[in-house]
Amino acid sequence: MIGADGVRSRVRDCLGIAYEGDDYQENVLQMMDVSITNFSAADDWIQYFIGQDKFVLVTKLPGANYRVLISDQGKAERSSLGDETREASTRRYISAVDSEAVLGEPRWATKWRIRKRLTSSYRKGGVFLAGDAAHCHSPSGWKAA
Ligand SMILES: Cc1cc2nc3c(=O)[nH]c(=O)nc-3n(C[C@H](O)[C@H](O)[C@H](O)COP(=O)(O)OP(=O)(O)OC[C@H]3O[C@@H](n4cnc5c(N)ncnc54)[C@H](O)[C@@H]3O)c2cc1C
Repeated sequence: MIGADGVRSRVRDCLGIAYEGDDYQENVLQMMDVSITNFSAADDWIQYFIGQDKFVLVTKLPGANYRVLISDQGKAERSSLGDETREASTRRYISAVDSEAVLGEPRWATKWRIRKRLTSSYRKGGVFLAGDAAHCHSPSGWKAA
């Protein structure tokens, strides 16, 4: 049997397997699907803008919208992403990378913190854990403690 039931895996809990790790306290991520006019970057490229303590990722979606991902690595409690509406901070970050770009109405938006967790074992007897039930980490990779 394979337990692929996500971060809050019931299969893992029933097996009594530990899911060790932590949240990246300093990391806030925000994602939004939104139209952008006058955006100078080519649509057939994924655009990564990397600063000292932040990055902005802009990907053209089919149709009018772009997916904008913002990572702010200020301490969560002083993160500018924590203080502003999603729209305001996305607007601010996009104008920082392209002053001519104009954001439309967001179609969808979310904000979350990243977890970094790993099970103490991937299997117990004939039951295996897979996917987020076994491990989760930043899309940028595993950052050592
Ligand atoms: C906002 C966001 C953006 C992301 N972007 C990316 C990305 O760009 N690239 C990338 O690689 N990863 C991304 N991820 C991570 C990616 O979504 C997960 O790593 C992936 O979905 C894990 O897949 P999974 O099948 O292990 O678990 P899940 O996708 O969580 O699926 C688990 C399934 O099990 C079901 N389930 C849970 N408990 C039970 C139960 N008791 N009984 C029956 N069913 C149950 C759930 O309903 C769910 O359908 C993102 C995650 C988030 C939150």
